[in-house]
Amino acid sequence: AHLDAIAAADGGLNSYLHVDALTALATAADVDRRRAAGEELGRLAGVPVALKDVVVTQGVPTTSGSRILEGWLPPYDATVAARLKAAGTVLLGKTNMDEFAMGSSTENSAYGPTRNPWDHDRIPGGSSGGSSAAVAGFLAPWSIGTDTGGSIRQPAAVTGLVGHKPTYGSVSRYGLIAFSSSLDQAGPMARTVADAALMHEVIGGHDPRDSTSIDAPAAPFVEAARQGATGDLSGVTVGVVRELGGEGHAEGYEPGVLAAFQAGVDQLRALGAEVREVSCTSFDLALAAYYLIAPSEASSNLSRFDGVRYGLRVGDDGSRDLDEVMAMTRAQGFGAEVKRRIILGTYALSSGYYEAYYGQAQKVRTLIGRDFAAAFADVDVLVSPTSPIVAFPIGQRVGDPLSMYAADLCTLPASLAGLPAISVPCGLSEGLPVGLQVMAPALADDRCYRVAAALE
Ligand code: GLN
Repeated sequence: AHLDAIAAADGGLNSYLHVDALTALATAADVDRRRAAGEELGRLAGVPVALKDVVVTQGVPTTSGSRILEGWLPPYDATVAARLKAAGTVLLGKTNMDEFAMGSSTENSAYGPTRNPWDHDRIPGGSSGGSSAAVAGFLAPWSIGTDTGGSIRQPAAVTGLVGHKPTYGSVSRYGLIAFSSSLDQAGPMARTVADAALMHEVIGGHDPRDSTSIDAPAAPFVEAARQGATGDLSGVTVGVVRELGGEGHAEGYEPGVLAAFQAGVDQLRALGAEVREVSCTSFDLALAAYYLIAPSEASSNLSRFDGVRYGLRVGDDGSRDLDEVMAMTRAQGFGAEVKRRIILGTYALSSGYYEAYYGQAQKVRTLIGRDFAAAFADVDVLVSPTSPIVAFPIGQRVGDPLSMYAADLCTLPASLAGLPAISVPCGLSEGLPVGLQVMAPALADDRCYRVAAALE
């Protein structure tokens, strides 16, 4: 049924970069055969899934939305892909994304923009916009996204989905094509909180192949969602972050978004939660810090794309030396946003500037972590809008990087502090979905699921 839906609707959405119907059908048939034979099946046996194209999949094309990886066939599976496979899921395909996950609209994909199923003239968010559009358009029941500065939560918010960014280190990064290694985290995008919690349980947990993987047992997320779904939040204290759309900090936030968010907060109170305003002054610096740290790490990570080891190679006709082939490959293989970040990151890391830029940004990161710690001494979770704006028209911001970066205002603090954060729908503004973000202390992802499920 999902393959039929893809065939019928993806011409209009462009949510998938690669679909292998024959392999998907063969995998599904194999599950049926094993079920009929009475074999023990995985927890998600036969359930289809879509993976963001930043997740490497053995023998299945993986581009990270870039021309520079065109034609590359990964020789192994990412841990996230391997765990979903072991649970019995059926891979429908790989979803579109901003090139190397840099963007908030999926317009930076080298393979054309993805459209929002709610309104085809609008963006589906980014960078996991193919993953959001596929699920919101019913071309997949759920999907994997990755979030470096908001790329699971913001696309979920603007397409009316649930999207959770797990605690940094709690889902393996092994086999995710690296953008900013100290921030990147994979997580679930789904139509319900319970689905997201279930997928998280399957992909999460320690992985010795990721040196930043946390060796702690995964919390019972499905149980937390079940508890939240009872609609009782008595005993839970919720902090509303003033710096994320509150009084004196509402510039750039659409009134309709703030109204829907307020309705969500009122609902939390009605369900028994105690609601307070909390101030985290360092959050005002998150955008500036993120746009130094992420490009700096990206400039280093992307140096591996040299025209020799992976995918595209340009100009290798025997007349040029290695440096020329590398330069031509990178010039033609990377898009404008990726080049902008490589230049910015290389500059910020260069000698004489390192302390002034990267070093300062790291200090801000510490302050953000301290503000969170102080807030969580008083409240169980923090809430804010997920995105200051609803899905905007395709083309509106692509020529103005700073206005594009502003889409990340609310999601960046939790990213920089490595904390779990979920986006759950909280209403509509002018007919378009608005998301409410719930942030929790490290490894307390279960609180996100509980509070989000209560709001659902
Ligand atoms: N929009 C942010 C950026 O462009 C975040 C992207 C992400 O989380 N991958 O960097």
